Amino acid sequence: MSRAGTNYESMQALNRSLVLQILSKKGTCSRTDMASWTGLTQASISKIVAEMIDAGIVVEGGRVSGMSGKRSIGISINQYLCKVLAVKIARKSFDVAAFWLNGDLIERSHRVVNISKVSPYKILEAIKNEIKNYLDKYADICAIGVAVPGPYLRKEGRIAIMSEVSGWDKLNIYEDLSEEFDLPIRMEHDANASAFAEWRYGENYGYGEKGTLVSLLTSEGVGAGIVNNGEIFRGIDGVAGEVGHMSIDMNGPRCICGNYGCLELYTSALSFAKFVKEDLKAHPDSTLNREEQITAETVFEHMRMGDTFSTEEVKKVGRYIGQGMANIIYLYNPQEIIMTDIMTGGGDVLLDAAKEVVRERTISELHRDIRIRMTTLKYDSILMGAAALATDLLLDNPSSLFSFAAKSAAAWTEIGSL
Ligand SMILES: [Zn+2]
Repeated sequence: MSRAGTNYESMQALNRSLVLQILSKKGTCSRTDMASWTGLTQASISKIVAEMIDAGIVVEGGRVSGMSGKRSIGISINQYLCKVLAVKIARKSFDVAAFWLNGDLIERSHRVVNISKVSPYKILEAIKNEIKNYLDKYADICAIGVAVPGPYLRKEGRIAIMSEVSGWDKLNIYEDLSEEFDLPIRMEHDANASAFAEWRYGENYGYGEKGTLVSLLTSEGVGAGIVNNGEIFRGIDGVAGEVGHMSIDMNGPRCICGNYGCLELYTSALSFAKFVKEDLKAHPDSTLNREEQITAETVFEHMRMGDTFSTEEVKKVGRYIGQGMANIIYLYNPQEIIMTDIMTGGGDVLLDAAKEVVRERTISELHRDIRIRMTTLKYDSILMGAAALATDLLLDNPSSLFSFAAKSAAAWTEIGSL
């Protein structure tokens, strides 16, 4: 192909992608508004929209009020054109789920794995088998998004360390999955995936184009995902946001990462359960003593039942989380920090304690307008994030959507002629 031809094709792909990304952010909009948001001419927009309507990638429907106040026909992405597959790998479980392009869940499987008995190789095999089951069941899955615990070295495709679990650092999950499956795959650190879900599907969706949000993931590990103006902020190796390994006490206990007093050692669900167990020894009257096994969830349950000791412990972990948030505010100056995963079970008791520390320890100009809240996403934010990543991959590469649409149209014609 001539160079001019190649240039034309890449320009065409870029323009199509611009249109799809605008539609995915705005939902439904008119051709005129699309032209002003993308900077493309009205004629180019009309041509691209016509091609996409023909292919079934976008649909016309209803009338919308444009920026000019005029009512015109609305265009939106055909959310049911195809599906994406979301994979979430966690320390003690994995999830595989099929989603529509708008983030609606179709089917989800959750598998618990015994990490002390099963090797990471076996777990990866089980994940691949589950992916195959979904691909067999849904022929219209067009991309795969994978969220993994970190620190995840993006360029190398492997996890550097996983607290409490060994062996994963030897696997190149991205390469392994890419060899096995003939679909575009995007893999990210779980906290990044979660932040991306908040940006794409969260309650402040509209502002997401401009602005900075941090998703603070507090599960068995602790990490933060940062989305800045709609882009995941990764750093050179993809490890930015590993706030779990940011020290909040340089004389604190030694962490697996080599640092001392890491935030994760005070605020992960596992660390929380550990220090509650220790503190409980001095509180024989706490109702928590009735529990055989103490986990973060059981402490939250007893807090809700009115146990003073459990409430105090939740406040204590909230203060540590607040210290982490104060550091995050100085690092990223976000307008929103959204907490997600297990530790959100601490509810307002935890959040109020965290906010108090933020107010005490950051300058007022920085914390004055910040929103600190728990996630309100419909499903697990990491899993939704994996779906959002796969969807984004398709919107960035519209040619794969065009070839999928052509293939399914051909299949329908074949059925029709039988
Ligand atoms: Zn550490």
